[in-house]
Amino acid sequence: MQEPDAPPLNKTQRQRLAKQQALGEKFNAVAQEAYEAFPKKLSHLVVIADHMLAFAAPKVAGQMADMSYHHFDVGYPMSRDIDNMADHLAGLPRINGLAQKDDVMAGMTVDSIALKTDGDREEAALWTLDHEIGHHILRNGHYKDKDHNNIAESAAEAYAALRHLQRYKKNMSHINYLVNNISLNPLFPDMDRDHYTAGSIIRAVEAADKMGDDFYKMPLKDTAVLAAKIADDTGLSDKKIAKIWRAYEGARNIINAKDADLSDACTEIFSVMKRHAHDADIVHAGELCLNVDPLKALADKLKPDWRTELKYTKSHAARKSSVRTVAL
Ligand SMILES: [Zn+2]
Repeated sequence: MQEPDAPPLNKTQRQRLAKQQALGEKFNAVAQEAYEAFPKKLSHLVVIADHMLAFAAPKVAGQMADMSYHHFDVGYPMSRDIDNMADHLAGLPRINGLAQKDDVMAGMTVDSIALKTDGDREEAALWTLDHEIGHHILRNGHYKDKDHNNIAESAAEAYAALRHLQRYKKNMSHINYLVNNISLNPLFPDMDRDHYTAGSIIRAVEAADKMGDDFYKMPLKDTAVLAAKIADDTGLSDKKIAKIWRAYEGARNIINAKDADLSDACTEIFSVMKRHAHDADIVHAGELCLNVDPLKALADKLKPDWRTELKYTKSHAARKSSVRTVAL
């Protein structure tokens, strides 16, 4: 019996499909390039984007091709595993990508990346893919214990930031958007602490700037080494994050109160930075918050010299010792 013809797609559906296909081709190219640079680490890589298979490493693709249909009766067919993974990711709020080691798909052990692209622009979608690739290839990109989570996320995010800068050169709009959002994490309840990675993104931008034109010619392997190093320097232990969150509890309460007064929040942040002037982690977290509007505009009005004071004490501290002080 013949299947009835599917109804023709309308214009919006056609456009969405064309966009997904174009993005799928980009995912494939990015994964292929990473695979060629890291053939061992990515020997079992499978990338799925929504419900589509975007990339399979040759070894996995070969096994898939070898499987005749009846092999599938021992397990789930690949397409069903892809659907399950896509549905699982779709149900996770605020998460657009997942990297899993030793995942099982259609009876094969694979290292998977699942991406959720709904409506994402290319920059954001490729950022997520690079981030998940970072989890698989970087020496410090894997989750191993709670104390390491932020370091693993900082590594993946530094790798994504470096790749983004290499790809889009000086276009900073996506980076600024992310840094602004993440910088404010300590000021809101229930914000993800593992992904408090603004420091690593900023460090990646600084490292790229410092390297000049060589940065754009840097092989992927060296880019990965640099990303791992950035995470060593900027990743935070669980204890340090808890300390930062504790220090800004007062500011968090002010901001999340009904009819919040943001000037009061700025004053409190200044006061926290002063009280913890010897603690570089806490001072840096405050600095990150005060660099985001509307807090930025208010802070500049309340204390026009705060940046200069911070800079002065930073260089002073750098000369005298590794401890950073602040004279706010
Ligand atoms: Zn991650």
